Amino acid sequence: MCIFCDIVEGKIPSTKVYENDKVLCFNDINPAAPVHVLVVPKKHFDDIRDMASSAEGKEYLGYVAEAIDEVAKIKDLGTGFRVINNCGADGGQTVMHAHFHVIGGVKLSEKIL
Ligand code: AMP
Ligand code: ZN
Repeated sequence: MCIFCDIVEGKIPSTKVYENDKVLCFNDINPAAPVHVLVVPKKHFDDIRDMASSAEGKEYLGYVAEAIDEVAKIKDLGTGFRVINNCGADGGQTVMHAHFHVIGGVKLSEKIL
């Protein structure tokens, strides 16, 4: 049982921003910026390392990249944005279904890298 699988299957509601047959993008319930969209592969992978471990997972990473570009267009993020992937407990991952935070709509000044 996984909350993002439930969202993908429509069992839990979400505010959809973009969807295709491989990826669902929806607003984060606890936004960290004016734009905070989660880009979620429709197939369950535990994290980005799990995605990297199979040919299918690597295909999905490409679909994720395309979806990030679609979100940037839909949300008018042409002046820039940030993509964050928290991986594993020490990386701060709380939902163990791989996902990518697209954050923007404001000049992001707090940088750690
Ligand atoms: P992470 O901490 O990187 O695993 O990110 C998980 C994100 O999922 C957090 O930013 C949460 O706010 C978000 N989240 C959890 N449940 C929901 C939900 N039902 N709808 C939208 N976002 C959610
Ligand atoms: Zn899942």
